[in-house]
Amino acid sequence: MESQSHSSDDTTMIAESVREVRQTFSSGKTREESWRREQLKRLLSLLLEREDDICRALGQDLGKHHVESYRDEVGPLIKSVNYALQGLKKWMAGRKAELPLAAFPASAQLVPEPLGVVLIMSSWNFPFGLCLEPLVGAIAAGNGAVIKPSELSPVSSSVLAELVHAYLDTTAIKIVQGGVSVGEQLLQQKWDKIFFTGGAKVGRVVMTAAARNLTPVALELGGKCPAVVDVLSSSWDQKIAMKRILSAKFGTCAGQACIAIDYILVEKKFSSTLVELLKTAIFSMFGENQKENIARIINKSHFSRLRNLLNEPMVTNSIVHGGWLDEDNLFIEPTLLLDPPVNSGIMSEEIFGPLLPIITLERIEDSIEFINSMPRPLAIYAFTNSEGLKKKLSSRTSSGSIVFNDAIIQYVADSFPFGGVGESGFGRYHGKFSFEVFSHEKVIARRSFLVDFWFRYPPWNDHKLQL
Ligand code: NAD
Repeated sequence: MESQSHSSDDTTMIAESVREVRQTFSSGKTREESWRREQLKRLLSLLLEREDDICRALGQDLGKHHVESYRDEVGPLIKSVNYALQGLKKWMAGRKAELPLAAFPASAQLVPEPLGVVLIMSSWNFPFGLCLEPLVGAIAAGNGAVIKPSELSPVSSSVLAELVHAYLDTTAIKIVQGGVSVGEQLLQQKWDKIFFTGGAKVGRVVMTAAARNLTPVALELGGKCPAVVDVLSSSWDQKIAMKRILSAKFGTCAGQACIAIDYILVEKKFSSTLVELLKTAIFSMFGENQKENIARIINKSHFSRLRNLLNEPMVTNSIVHGGWLDEDNLFIEPTLLLDPPVNSGIMSEEIFGPLLPIITLERIEDSIEFINSMPRPLAIYAFTNSEGLKKKLSSRTSSGSIVFNDAIIQYVADSFPFGGVGESGFGRYHGKFSFEVFSHEKVIARRSFLVDFWFRYPPWNDHKLQL
């Protein structure tokens, strides 16, 4: 089912799609290692052969430069598919487990089995990555999958549908395009797992719907990711830190990323130095023609949301750089704000755009209390050479991940999981964790009849207790 409409036929078509995928899953086809390997190889071909189509779609939906699209979507996906192809045999093999002596002689194994038919619903900011990265895990684990990309990136959604249709086994993997009503109808179906990437509000809707069928969910949500900046004593660190901060804000989908830096925490005495450093770095990184190097805001509604955040009077007064908005081109220039009120919208909502508040503190250690006064973020970043501060931040705050002296890099690692905690979500994926999130680790225990202990059976008597 690959239509963009919200017609009344959607329900029937969705039900028919799910039925077909379930039938394929029930046939046992997707469980075969050969099927999994074949689909992953085809996914790899899709990415290698259709890079231009993918990057063009991202350019149309989000104004992303081809290089940014490759860095953030095509490249990481190629890496992930290759990693899954390499690990597949080992992941599928399962592992041995021990039984207690009382069960002697016996043997046991933990064997991963696919969950069944899974729903992957995702957001618009990385429309290929956020659909296909979980799909790598779903395929590797032997599931059938239905994917709903976001209606807010329509060109990418339709290219994705076309590519999945052309390259993958559509009896087991389907794309369903559409908006909220299609999402709602999909949630009416019975799934064996729902893997959702989006905001906390819809996350609650997903969990409520999943509860009806006791369907397990993974929620990859967002939040406000802080960056603690404490490197202003060494010029070498400063330069690199500024580049990494700007890249993780303005240079990653114009800040429309769940792990983008949302705001900065810095000591008051360094704030003017930091603003000057950021201004200089903005100029050298994005040049005079910033529009070539910074993505667009996804649509008018998000553009207005960001404008409204800036238009609160106390917030407008805090702008120390930028603030120019070009509505016709959905472009907002990199904007720095110094100490907007902490109870303003810009400091209480996830910004998801190229506005960067800088909040000043008396002591950098106060950042711990500040971070802990907010919902637990998906990521915390800290630019510091102080081992003491690293230790305190690691042990006294909670977040999906914490990264020192860089940002965003945790997204592209295969060896550790990506996911949130608290309001930033739960469930984790990437690398082998993507395989695990779509698997059930089944216990297979085997006993023999050779030995049997009489005292484990009734009739009960005190004599059996004394053994
Ligand atoms: P969203 O929650 O509005 O939408 C996500 C998906 O849910 C879309 O496909 C949408 O069509 C669907 N949907 C919306 N309302 C629905 C409803 N009532 N019933 C069923 N389906 C519905 O989120 P968004 O605006 O697409 O994405 C932005 C949010 O996603 C941000 O909070 C961001 O931090 C988060 N995000 C998280 C990650 C991550 O990996 N943790 C990655 C990207 C984005």
